[in-house]
Amino acid sequence: MRRLIAAILVIAPSTLTHGAADAASDNPLLQLSPLPYHIPQFDRIRVSDYVPAFAAGMRAQLREVAAITHDPAPPDFRNTIVALDRSGQLLLRVGWIFDELNANSNTPEMQKIDTEMAPRRSAHRDAINLDHALWQRVDAVYQQRGSLQLDAESRQLLERWHARMVRAGARLGGQQQARLRELNAQIASLSSRFGQNVLKATAAGAVVVERVADLDGLSAADVSAAAQAAAARGLTGKWLITLQNTTQQPLLAQLTNRALRERIFTASVQRGFGGDADNTAVLTQLVRLRAERAALLGYDSHAAYALEDESAGTPAAVRKLFAQIVPAALARARADAAELQKLIDADVAARHGAAFTLQPWDWEFYAERLRKARYNFDQAQVAPYFELNRVVEDGVFYAAHQLYGLSFKERKDLPVYQPEVRVFEVFDADGQGLGLFIADYFARDSKQGGAWMNPYLEQSRLLGMKAVVSNNLNIAKPGPGQPVLLSFEEVTTLFHEFGHALHGLLSDVEYPSLSGTETPPDFVEYPSQYNEMWARDPQVVAHFAHHYQSGAPMPPELLARVLAAQRFEVGYATTEYTAAALLDLAWYSLPAAQVPDAAGVAAFEASALQDAGVAYAPVPPRYRSPYFSHIFNNDYSAGYYAYLWSEVLARDTGAWLYAHGGLTRANGDYLRKQVLSRGRSAEPLDLFRSFYGSGPEIGPLLEYRGLATGQAGAGG
Ligand SMILES: [Zn+2]
Repeated sequence: MRRLIAAILVIAPSTLTHGAADAASDNPLLQLSPLPYHIPQFDRIRVSDYVPAFAAGMRAQLREVAAITHDPAPPDFRNTIVALDRSGQLLLRVGWIFDELNANSNTPEMQKIDTEMAPRRSAHRDAINLDHALWQRVDAVYQQRGSLQLDAESRQLLERWHARMVRAGARLGGQQQARLRELNAQIASLSSRFGQNVLKATAAGAVVVERVADLDGLSAADVSAAAQAAAARGLTGKWLITLQNTTQQPLLAQLTNRALRERIFTASVQRGFGGDADNTAVLTQLVRLRAERAALLGYDSHAAYALEDESAGTPAAVRKLFAQIVPAALARARADAAELQKLIDADVAARHGAAFTLQPWDWEFYAERLRKARYNFDQAQVAPYFELNRVVEDGVFYAAHQLYGLSFKERKDLPVYQPEVRVFEVFDADGQGLGLFIADYFARDSKQGGAWMNPYLEQSRLLGMKAVVSNNLNIAKPGPGQPVLLSFEEVTTLFHEFGHALHGLLSDVEYPSLSGTETPPDFVEYPSQYNEMWARDPQVVAHFAHHYQSGAPMPPELLARVLAAQRFEVGYATTEYTAAALLDLAWYSLPAAQVPDAAGVAAFEASALQDAGVAYAPVPPRYRSPYFSHIFNNDYSAGYYAYLWSEVLARDTGAWLYAHGGLTRANGDYLRKQVLSRGRSAEPLDLFRSFYGSGPEIGPLLEYRGLATGQAGAGG
């Protein structure tokens, strides 16, 4: 039965999409949901359904691929490339549902499944990417590409599949592929060791405080949290300051005890250098192995390999762009440092203390004072104007209506996995349903931190699918009957994540693998960072920022202070970020033979920052190498630059829109046509150019961040 279905899949793949292969089972994951837009049957999925569904998805895709490679007809675009793009839909769907529910309901049972499935999912991808018979067919079609008369999107699909297989090693000989698999396995295990060491080193770096007086400046809640943290480690009667993942530690903004600030900062930046959880040997070995893998695949460096697949294209393009930002960021950081030094000097004089020069562990402390003096508002004053429902419906949805003609209708008839989750049906200007938007805004114990967007289903004309996407935030849930009042940062996050959601919902492409947010990391943050700007647009703010009780609009002078405060500390933030991004590129630009040994890590960091022109002692990189998990543990190796790169595209887009009238349907429709509907149906930077009329420019970003020449220092 299964074989028969597999054999007819090439002709009628929708059979599988609709789950006929395992229709007998009562596992709801095996079937395309019968609900509107095929929204998952959240009320029927059991944790025990995932592993069998993953296994069925992998078997189904292997059958589909076997049907392609055993096809007696000579390879052509339809029987090979389109068939390949149709394959694996069950597995994709199960993966989307699992990954999203694992992130927002991260229970031990789900973690266990994740740990079990991760190596099986990656081995499955390798099995397809390194399938020799499949490669021969894909390459045969690719070699004829000039004579196939494909439309632009089909040509892109062919190029993407070919590139994906080449980059995975399909072109290598048997011995080289064996070495590649070895390298992949070693890199995977070293990465996870790096992550475990970061956890250990971070825990070990926590600072024990003997006297409560030393915690002067902290809130009662922070002091009690420190006492509890100490008690949890058997240090009852003491206090423990635990470390956050970044170089800077948030509590330094409040701690008046300078010696303690220095101890905490030093513990933070020395994490993973030596000790039980030393990461210097792990990371240098990782850099060496990635360099070797890149050489095996024919690239000068891992950075060259990684960036070829991104919109930036080359490490040189990123360096060139950053070289235009770094001087402005550093100049602002130095100007801010001078302001902070004045505060320090006044402070020292008032206390008749000994003079000292600003150090990194002083920065946040004095910056916090400056912030209070300059902007003079507190959260309690602002929050009543940012009530969640009002921000979403009269802000986020309103902007999408003005720009793209979208409207939203809540669907209380569809199942959700948590009672507070809301589902909205999204309608296009002509009344046609576009997809579903699932809003999961509140923090829960089992939910991962931060904010993100995920697809549950992606749009594709080929498969007749529309988008079902979600936004996830971690807003603290108020008591029963209380309103949900937000900070301006949370308002911005709502707009940001909704920008990703729009990228999924507005997608209008033929092929599933080119849909919506299936774009490289340095492009995927473009629509989201662009959408953030509507949170600051006068017309949009006026529409949503009303007092939740009186309905009165936010006083303009308060709003002006809130907006000005967004530019505070931009010199520090931009400098610490670019320093980390350039450090990332420096490591991954090394050929294997030039990678220093473990003892040379600190010296390499210093010279890399010096060479990149971003060495400035008061502003160290946001991460030092032994705790830089993005690039040594997660998938951001040679990719940490992506946020700022895509922000350049976002700010250029904002400047263009304002130059053409701002919040209008004409502007929205044009951006939608050129970029937001296009997924990866063309090369990302070509989409940007077709919208903007030229390549990315740096001016609008400097302007938006408040770093342009002539803009006032520190928002003053
Ligand atoms: Zn984002």
